[in-house]
Amino acid sequence: MKANEIMEKSEQYVLHTYNRYPVVLDHGKGVRLYDVDGREYLDFAAGIAVFALGYGNETYNQALKDQIDKLIHTSNLYYNEPMGEAAEKLIKASGMDKVFFTNSGTEAIEGALKAARKYAYLKDGNTDHEIIAMNHSFHGRSMGALSVTGNTHYQDPFRPLIGGIRFAEFNNLDSVKAQVTEKTCAVIMETVQGEGGIYPADPEFLRGVKALCEEKDILLILDEIQCGMGRTGSMFAWQEYGVEPDIMTCAKALGCGIPVGAFVLNKKTAEHSLVPGDHGTTYGGNPLACAAVRTVFDIFEKEKIVEHVQEVGAYLEQRLNALVEKYDFLAQRRGKGLIQGLVVTGRPVGEIVLKAMENGLLVITAGTDVLRMVPPLVISKADVDEMIEKLEKSF
Ligand SMILES: *Cc1c(COP(=O)(O)O)cnc(C)c1O
Repeated sequence: MKANEIMEKSEQYVLHTYNRYPVVLDHGKGVRLYDVDGREYLDFAAGIAVFALGYGNETYNQALKDQIDKLIHTSNLYYNEPMGEAAEKLIKASGMDKVFFTNSGTEAIEGALKAARKYAYLKDGNTDHEIIAMNHSFHGRSMGALSVTGNTHYQDPFRPLIGGIRFAEFNNLDSVKAQVTEKTCAVIMETVQGEGGIYPADPEFLRGVKALCEEKDILLILDEIQCGMGRTGSMFAWQEYGVEPDIMTCAKALGCGIPVGAFVLNKKTAEHSLVPGDHGTTYGGNPLACAAVRTVFDIFEKEKIVEHVQEVGAYLEQRLNALVEKYDFLAQRRGKGLIQGLVVTGRPVGEIVLKAMENGLLVITAGTDVLRMVPPLVISKADVDEMIEKLEKSF
């Protein structure tokens, strides 16, 4: 089918909830994608921070093919081998205690919120617990996840949302303290805000929130769905802060393309929250998804992905900083490792994204004025150079 026919068919039958870019992607190789007309794109979007290993990784593809031929789905009524192994790897990488596998990031957030409310309920038997979330955050589109997403534009048409949510200013400890009441059961935040515009948590802020949580037995939920899995140069972004969450959420690069998420609990939370009957999912933790997770962790280890991100991430930062120096309309670079944003002033960031696409480069936006880069973690310095060249051409 021709590109325009494919686009027309989608628009005719698929509910219009996205304004898609006029590109029909067909296949990928390494860090490059190809559209149906054979045009090549250097991919600095990775399907929104998902495809960390690049396209066509043989080990990954073969592991999935083998699992498809063996067993794809069982339900959670029975055990399967990949689930335990994927869980073990996630626990060892995080130093936390127990995992619940979901099918998306949003569902991981739902589970984290439920675990936090159950923890508080077991403590005092009350059912009016509050959760503090951050302005400009993004945690997903379901009613629970949307309720803790600090963006009224996303929320307003869907009210009433779940109750007991209070919002604070990210990177402002006093503003978090001001929202604490005797009913507070959790604080939820992204370690690096993604959709909101690439804002890393300040170390003093995150440590201050952690201290506050410990003092009052409030659970700290860190959303690592976008910034986790090696993207910032450590397996999970919080590991650089010396601050451990009570609950962590993962998704996006966790399965590198197979839909899978997880919420991960520390010992205290695992032992005093969800029990049989409290939470469930038909697909969650299925053998295919968990074979993907298991293989992703194996490849991360074998190919030293995190170390690679530290090196190439530092190089990307340096090249982006030079752009900010050079162009007046670039106000700032924000980010860590391979989650980077350029703040664009005085012209629409969307136009640059479209121009870049014409020049064979995929980048995306965040917030209203940020050019976002979340490339596959396997990009090389030469790919960074090529990206800079294509981006400058698009300015
Ligand atoms: C993408 C994202 C989510 C939602 O994940 P889905 O897989 O789209 O449901 C939640 N939190 C953060 C930080 C995200 O980037």
